Amino acid sequence: KELNMNEIVSICKMRGIIFPGSEIYGGLANSWDYGPIGVEIKNNIKKMWWKKFVQESPFNVGIDSAILMNPKTWEASGHVGGFNDPLMDCKNCKTRYRADKLIEDNAHAKGEDVVVDGWENEKMLAYIHEHQIKCPNCGAFDYTDIRQFNLMFKTFQGVTEDSANQIYLRPETAQGIFVNFANIQRASRKKIPFGIAQIGKSFRNEITPGNYIFRTREFEQMELEFFCKPGEDLEWFDYWKNYCRDWILGLGIKEENLRLRDHSDDELSHYSNATTDFEFKFPFGWGELWGIADRTDYDLKQHQEHSGKDLKYTDPMTNEKYVPYCIEPSLGVDRVMLAFLCNGFENEELEDGDSRTVLKIHPALSSFKCAILPLTKKLKDKALEVYADLAKEFMVDYDEAGSIGKRYRRQDEIGTPYCVTIDFDTLEDNTVTIRDRDTMEQIRVSIDELSSYIKRSVTY
Ligand code: ATP
Repeated sequence: KELNMNEIVSICKMRGIIFPGSEIYGGLANSWDYGPIGVEIKNNIKKMWWKKFVQESPFNVGIDSAILMNPKTWEASGHVGGFNDPLMDCKNCKTRYRADKLIEDNAHAKGEDVVVDGWENEKMLAYIHEHQIKCPNCGAFDYTDIRQFNLMFKTFQGVTEDSANQIYLRPETAQGIFVNFANIQRASRKKIPFGIAQIGKSFRNEITPGNYIFRTREFEQMELEFFCKPGEDLEWFDYWKNYCRDWILGLGIKEENLRLRDHSDDELSHYSNATTDFEFKFPFGWGELWGIADRTDYDLKQHQEHSGKDLKYTDPMTNEKYVPYCIEPSLGVDRVMLAFLCNGFENEELEDGDSRTVLKIHPALSSFKCAILPLTKKLKDKALEVYADLAKEFMVDYDEAGSIGKRYRRQDEIGTPYCVTIDFDTLEDNTVTIRDRDTMEQIRVSIDELSSYIKRSVTY
């Protein structure tokens, strides 16, 4: 049986995966801290993404650009003028809504699917009136007009807080890639087609954050900007769509929890040739996980115009000059982590009438690759010896407290794929028992083979 959201939030807090942010001060709305287990899972997600998109791809290189950028960047990218959400208040109880989400949530509750991307304010207001969507908080039907609310966080650089010093926290990592396009092309001597990948924090002053780590104001993104020749963009769009799909299914996301939704023509951004959203079936409904867009030459052309710098590429064979087209797969680290947690947590009834909660997450993503469990404290020395050897290779947990059954349950709940028990026979024959998280089957192996056995089973 799958776990519901409340059960997931509570087990994540108990086991050190995710804590509410600033908790001792009463919290800070919708901020979350990743605990000792959570930070490992999150790092592994980033590692596996980098492995697939940079290390294993002959096309791509990486970058780590600054969060703070020249404010002209955001004029060029369209974020100053256009990165707005439709804000609307209930006049009765003063609850604040995003008009598009109010409509979508209302439809979801009725089992319908409405996608509001690209609607004008008038169309949203008309829909809300036609369907008499009442305020979910107080039940009134009395809203303000819709106004546009810019999502960028503002701050100041330097000692004077005047508008000349005003800068923004980046709302996406992509623009740090575009402004470095010429630098990277020159330094890496890459030929089109090639891509630039980045992982980093982004900030959006979301009107209605929520659903745990699904939508927060501070989050991490993993973005690839892949540059290709105009006219070849739709082929590359398909290539990256499949590549992304392989990555996520390869790491254990169940096919029935994933759907790919192509944007219809009226939903597409004016600069986009094609966009597909990867959606995941969260306990609260289908939600966007990964946006894959053919952004044409829009971004580079915008930066070319605003910076006055030539961002054209010269084909070394033909000497042809052009501004490359760009395919962008953009994935939220926190959001995909939530997907892996929802996809993996299960409550299982066992044959002996007992039950257990287990996080069936791909071993490449689990925080610990194995746990060393001495049967009694008398075996501590031998157990610590095994621990020290394995800890040189990967993350290992050590636990000697409590009954072996309870220790297994704890490891199941944090997703440790293997439990290694040290018993008195170990001292005689140098073998240990390995218990598999998912099947609970146990086998006996020699300590000499332990490291290679585990490494073989946890690679991706
Ligand atoms: P939405 O319509 O849900 O606000 P969006 O279409 O604006 O999202 P993008 O700008 O395409 O989202 O962002 C790319 C990816 O970054 C998303 O698919 C998601 O995984 C992640 N992301 C965006 N906003 C947030 C957020 N507030 N919290 C967590 N992850 C986010």
